[in-house]
Amino acid sequence: MNGARDWEAREPRRPGVIRRVLPTALAFVIIIGGMAYLGGDLRELLGTAPGSPRSAAATNRVYEETGPVDARCDTVPQDVNADPATSLRALSKCLDRMWAATLAQADLDYERPREVRLVASRDKAACGVEDYDWAGIYCPRGRVVNVLIEDWHTFPMMFTLAHEYAHHVQEISGIANQRGSEVFDDAWSRRLELQADCLAAVTLRTSWPNPLENFRRMARGDSGTTGELEDGYLQSHGSGASSAAWMLRGGQAGTMAACNTWGAPADQVS
Ligand SMILES: [Zn+2]
Repeated sequence: MNGARDWEAREPRRPGVIRRVLPTALAFVIIIGGMAYLGGDLRELLGTAPGSPRSAAATNRVYEETGPVDARCDTVPQDVNADPATSLRALSKCLDRMWAATLAQADLDYERPREVRLVASRDKAACGVEDYDWAGIYCPRGRVVNVLIEDWHTFPMMFTLAHEYAHHVQEISGIANQRGSEVFDDAWSRRLELQADCLAAVTLRTSWPNPLENFRRMARGDSGTTGELEDGYLQSHGSGASSAAWMLRGGQAGTMAACNTWGAPADQVS
């Protein structure tokens, strides 16, 4: 989660500045002249156009048809730091159970990731992506979750595992399987990443004492090893404040519906 992307990009990034200023421009345009030819593009931008990729992601049936995610995870060792790999393997089993039960409510068959790789170095990851400083990465084509095992507290690695699992859920539920011009730009990426943060918090909310405080620390990037967040990371993953807000929302509500970043206004996914 520390790099420009932790899911496999299929197209190069494009600058997102125009998309940030366009909502203001929309109001201006409407007031001064109703330039009708802009309407289609702007509806697309705001995600309200029926059939647009964002509209499809925002109206996925999981939001309406699933209730609170049962986040109990009795098999994770009490001392998660004693053996991080054992803790992560135990959490992986819980995440499979949680997501299978949750998606079943929406008549979706859950398939486990084909592989969960706990890797000692980034070049061991299944995606073959080595060009940035990620802590975890999900390869949608191979449906492989990768988490880098590092010598630090286990909670950030467990959060990373839950976040990459959330990308897997986005993939198999159809949320991430959209096609269109807006897909894979920075604004799209932020909604995808902030939703994964929110869903990770949903699944981890009962696993630690003071989970909300841990989520705040994760969002601030002060888990002990990460430095200042780079611009590329912020553009593709959202600000620490946005991340914290979505984690807290997921951690408090415990539902997929609370994590619908696709229907949120732009300032909540900045
Ligand atoms: Zn991610």
